[in-house]
Amino acid sequence: MELSKPFTFSQSSLQDYFDCARRFQLRYIEKLSYPAIEAEPALENESRIEQGQFFHRLAQQHFLGLPPEKLARLATSPDLTRWWDNFIRAFPHPAALGAGSPEVALSAPMGNHRLLAKYDLIAIKDGRATIYDWKTYHKRPKNEWMAIRMQTRVYRYLLAVAGTSLNGGESIQPENIEMIYWYTDYPDDPAVFKYDTAQFKRDGDALEKLIGDIEGRAEFEKTDDEKKCAYCTYRSYCARGAQAGDWHDAEAEAEALETFDINFEQVAEIAF
Ligand code: SF4
Repeated sequence: MELSKPFTFSQSSLQDYFDCARRFQLRYIEKLSYPAIEAEPALENESRIEQGQFFHRLAQQHFLGLPPEKLARLATSPDLTRWWDNFIRAFPHPAALGAGSPEVALSAPMGNHRLLAKYDLIAIKDGRATIYDWKTYHKRPKNEWMAIRMQTRVYRYLLAVAGTSLNGGESIQPENIEMIYWYTDYPDDPAVFKYDTAQFKRDGDALEKLIGDIEGRAEFEKTDDEKKCAYCTYRSYCARGAQAGDWHDAEAEAEALETFDINFEQVAEIAF
């Protein structure tokens, strides 16, 4: 089986490849669904993921202008209530962030393929663009770890390449882009990543190389780092252990896969 052309790469698929080439092959080329538990305790993990998704919907509706007091009534569990209270204290007035585009997707060609990202929020004010990403992690990851995640690289890069439509027809210079991971349980300690032309060029080169590497591969080896297998759905398929890891220890590793329920006609994309 081969990679479909054009293939739509996202931060998730690139992160999978970065973590383990075999995982990329099984998930995106062979499309093997293998319903193993990704993290334990399974029910607690599932509930946390569902609440995280629900929180994202509340945040989107807040930025679409729905009254916060109505949204607050939907935050019914202790986690959701706490996250919502923290959120509304941090972002009481959506308009204060500038022109906001919640849940917006951007796409651009890359080699023979396409790069796609779906953002929680892009806010543009005075020509400067801020990418917001809400994280419902139980533990706050180190900034050094977030800095090298594919999400941090792909999101900033793609906004510089394909963000023109959000900025009145003007391209957004890398120096005018920053990305903020805002943690629902650590509201006063967001991770902020600036951007510049040197990083933009480095990211573009690295992404092209990575995608070229995937395209040219005959073999997709299993990772040597068996810690990556603890939260991987293919663990027993690969004979890398039957027991899932504890989500408290590596929530981000076990983060739910992005689902791209996207109407491509609505995606802002520069021409192929
Ligand atoms: S179980 Fe390990 S080797 Fe197999 S796909 Fe997952 S991360 Fe890769």
